[in-house]
Amino acid sequence: MELISAVATASGAGGVAIVRVSGEGALALAQQMFSHKGEFEPNRLYPGKIDCGPFSDYGMCVYFRAPRSFTGEDTVEFHCHGGTEIARGVWKRTIELGARAAERGEFTRRAFLNGKLSLSAAEGMAEMISAQSEAQVRAGFLLYGETLTREGKRLQTEIRECLAYADADVDYPEEDLSADARREVAVRLRKIKEALGGLLSQYRVGKKIRSGVNVVICGEPNAGKSSLLNALLGYERAIVSQIPGTTRDAVEGTLEIGGVLFRLTDTAGLRESQDALEQEGIRRAKNAIAAADVVVLVREGGAEGHDMPKLSPGTALITISSKSDLVRSEKCDLCVSALTGEGIEALKELLYERGFGRENGEAYLLEERHYGAVREAAEAVDRALEGTEKGAFAELYAEDLRRAYVALGLLSGETATEEIIAEIFSKFCVGK
Ligand code: GDP
Repeated sequence: MELISAVATASGAGGVAIVRVSGEGALALAQQMFSHKGEFEPNRLYPGKIDCGPFSDYGMCVYFRAPRSFTGEDTVEFHCHGGTEIARGVWKRTIELGARAAERGEFTRRAFLNGKLSLSAAEGMAEMISAQSEAQVRAGFLLYGETLTREGKRLQTEIRECLAYADADVDYPEEDLSADARREVAVRLRKIKEALGGLLSQYRVGKKIRSGVNVVICGEPNAGKSSLLNALLGYERAIVSQIPGTTRDAVEGTLEIGGVLFRLTDTAGLRESQDALEQEGIRRAKNAIAAADVVVLVREGGAEGHDMPKLSPGTALITISSKSDLVRSEKCDLCVSALTGEGIEALKELLYERGFGRENGEAYLLEERHYGAVREAAEAVDRALEGTEKGAFAELYAEDLRRAYVALGLLSGETATEEIIAEIFSKFCVGK
């Protein structure tokens, strides 16, 4: 393949920057601009001088021989000092020597095309790179380790076995045998359906790993919502005031609890108001509550009022009795004081438990594309199963089995179209 080059590290000042060159002639290029004379042993870092033309830098060079490289092609990397101009100078020299600028994600795309990793593994790697929390890195790593592709392939194999029954039935249709085949396929399909259902159920958690758990703090004006947000975040994010109705817009902040990202929103106090600006704040508060994963209802001293928000199905509720240093009530989940810090750690634990769930650490179905593929497969399996149960002709349920097979192949990329592949890699960064 054509020689491509890119700065693989983020731009800016840093200890080291890496320029990566992959394709035919990578080694010859390194020999032209790097001072090491003699043989380049693969996978070995050589120290030396990188000649960029207008300037030089002392650094290192490593050669990975095809197919034992990330891309599967001959690759060299120059490790220079981490300054934008230095890295650009090294890169420009590689271009002068015949490489062309790599497109976004082109190295990974080549790795995929050369069978070094599957499509969902490439997406997992991108997930790790853009992660905003430990949980997202962990999930990305599971994808990168081919967990989803393996499961997809396993299910594809089982579907293929069902197809073998169906095909035999098509070729040698006979009443008794057809019924036997249908029964056997149905037994297998029920197991496949269960496995697909398990994957799909991960997505509820997977979405939270990817986008964060939405927590909305609500309650009457002056209940202590802004103070609670600040206490949770550990810094003064929201304005705290004795004047009720101060928070008019939703104030947001992010917090990592147990490696999971939580997005906290402090809302305008819920009360009847004539003030147009405050009314707008209250309208936004109601919208935020409707979209929340967890609603934290703050009540001063636990006092019950007309503040119970309307929750969407699936939204968890945590009731807080605030200002526990002044007044206390046990008619709530937790007593909290933003002033003394009482209950803040316990609240974080409760947020984790109700907003995310203790047992949800190992989810890896978090990408919409993966969810779509698994859902499509599950729907096709459902139709096939219904067909076998209703005594449909093998031709009919086999068609659905084939659809499920193709949908699952989208995970590894085996059945993905050029457009899908191009779109995925266009979202990667240059140099990856
Ligand atoms: P919000 O309108 O619900 O956002 O309430 P604020 O956080 O602005 O607080 C309203 C008033 O209650 C302010 O004067 C705060 O200083 C006070 N306040 C909030 N939390 C506490 C607390 O835990 N203890 C005490 N003693 N006062 C608090």
